Amino acid sequence: MALVVMDLEFNSGMYSKASLEEVLQIGAVRVERLGGPIVGAFNAFIKPRVQKRLSPGARVLPELADSLESGVPFEEAYQAFLEFCAEETVFAEWGRDDFKILGRNAVHFGLTPLLPERYIDVQSAFMRTVGAENSPQLTLAAEYCGIPDSFVFHNALNDAMYTALVGGFAAREVLPEYTYALLPEDVRPVVKPDKPRKNQTRLGPFASAELALNNMGCRRAMCLACRKPGRIHEWYTADGQYYYGEYICPVHGSVLRRLRLAEGQDGRFWTYNDSPAICRDNLARLEAARAGETFVCRRKSPRARRRSRKRRGKKKS
Ligand SMILES: [Zn+2]
Repeated sequence: MALVVMDLEFNSGMYSKASLEEVLQIGAVRVERLGGPIVGAFNAFIKPRVQKRLSPGARVLPELADSLESGVPFEEAYQAFLEFCAEETVFAEWGRDDFKILGRNAVHFGLTPLLPERYIDVQSAFMRTVGAENSPQLTLAAEYCGIPDSFVFHNALNDAMYTALVGGFAAREVLPEYTYALLPEDVRPVVKPDKPRKNQTRLGPFASAELALNNMGCRRAMCLACRKPGRIHEWYTADGQYYYGEYICPVHGSVLRRLRLAEGQDGRFWTYNDSPAICRDNLARLEAARAGETFVCRRKSPRARRRSRKRRGKKKS
């Protein structure tokens, strides 16, 4: 049973509006088994056309010029890669990002994502074998395995080959502990949330609504007259989207805080926070929210509670 070891070079979308991690090169080797004979190789440099700016990581790719000067669009390279994979059902990669990123690119360009039912994360296998706690770079793992660095790293084809070789050392047995399936939700496009409006702050992402509502940044309040800082202890909501809180400055009285909870496509939450003016309309909204549901904020994070308990315990002894 052969398998396909795949690696990507890409331009991280972090520094531009579109959040796609745009693939610049697909490299792969077909091996009889990890560490076994290489029976096929695939390489495609891809012309980028989504991102306008190069991320710092992409800028230092040794063969970036081959991508920038490539005439091959993603669609064509991806189709050729699928043909190379043919009937293979087992895949491997270094880490757990590249098949996701490849799938997200496919979805972005309106193509069917490749969703391996079984792929081996060689990095996890390596960490397990050597007892490492931090995720090592492929270069380090290859060096550890005594593999000569005769081929330049951060070329997708070379990295796929190095991954296959390190896999021979680390994943001689294919164990469920480092074998995964790629699911449709893994390749859903990541949509950046709306920009905050003027006088709003956006915070997040949060894994849950509770974490957002308990977040100290979200709960921060300040008297507009004397700038005395305070904190929201209870949120009120009539609709589960707009949350209102009130902070009372001992001298100047009421400060309103409003938080809009927005769920992203990836199921995480963002908040848009502002201090609406104390006017009749807003006080009516606060009253309506009070009549709805109340969320009582956690007094301290469990970790902080543990810490203070520990301190108290130490004082006693
Ligand atoms: Zn005040």
